[in-house]
Amino acid sequence: MNPVTQPSTPPYVQCEDVFKIHKTQELEVVALRGLDLSVASGEVMAIVGASGSGKSTLLNILAGLDQPSAGRVRVGQRDLLTMNDQELVDYRRAEVGFVWQQTGRNLLPYLTARENVEVPQLVNGTDRRTAGARALELLAQVGLAAKAEHRPNQMSGGEQQRVAIAVALANQPPLLLADEPTGELDSATATEVFAALHTLNEATGVTVVIVSHDRTITERVDRVVTMRDGRTAAEFVRRATFGRERMAMEEFALVDRSGRLQIPREYVDQLGLGTRATVEIHGDHVELRAAPDHEAAP
Ligand code: ADP
Ligand code: MG
Repeated sequence: MNPVTQPSTPPYVQCEDVFKIHKTQELEVVALRGLDLSVASGEVMAIVGASGSGKSTLLNILAGLDQPSAGRVRVGQRDLLTMNDQELVDYRRAEVGFVWQQTGRNLLPYLTARENVEVPQLVNGTDRRTAGARALELLAQVGLAAKAEHRPNQMSGGEQQRVAIAVALANQPPLLLADEPTGELDSATATEVFAALHTLNEATGVTVVIVSHDRTITERVDRVVTMRDGRTAAEFVRRATFGRERMAMEEFALVDRSGRLQIPREYVDQLGLGTRATVEIHGDHVELRAAPDHEAAP
């Protein structure tokens, strides 16, 4: 091992050239086609993209619910491509918490909020007293101490999603994945859900990856990666945060190891880009111009 080539802190989540082909009886759908993504430990970031761009496929792979067809996926010390079934079960139990969009899918309807947060701990072998104390602590952190003895149907959608976050973090996983967690909520309620996520991130350092098709999520996190056609396309990074004052986001195109990048759709349209372009270097930048698709016949 050459220590010089080892980065000092490798990303906590690292996806390289990931492909996922969903096979059905009639056809094969390529949901991920060479996706690259890195997430630092302790980050709260979002992945946005149109419906069908592969967001849920990616999140299910990170959750250990589905396996990629090819590529490399590492989370912490684990290689998600080479894990066997038992290792995947252990991974799902110890490493990740998951929040679904459908509020009803996250909670057991006949149990109170406190009991819902206790269940995964009891399953994991935690004693009742410890599980109860941790449930109340987590519910306080998501702002629901007063609703601990309420059942899901006695709570609003936003409150149920905050309980769902507490359930997902009951066994203290280092990674929280949320697939459109505020997709069924109005904006004000979504704000409360994000406040709960940020509180828990600050208290525990949990890494949070949120998937959304809602671009206003850029107001709620410090980094957003956009997906298009099964690949990451661009990244929006906030320059700095001053208390509650959030700075504007800076946009970057993502370049993969082969030098490929996606040109924003509106630029493609504006330039009238077809299948060919000329690319010329000028000092510190390149210029890209639309070229005719093929030589006109003489
Ligand atoms: P998103 O979450 O961004 O809407 P998905 O990851 O759900 O996107 O889907 C990406 C593509 O893969 C879509 O074309 C979708 O129809 C297809 N797909 C997703 N899951 C399956 C599956 N289990 N079987 C077949 N096709 C699937
Ligand atoms: Mg989806």
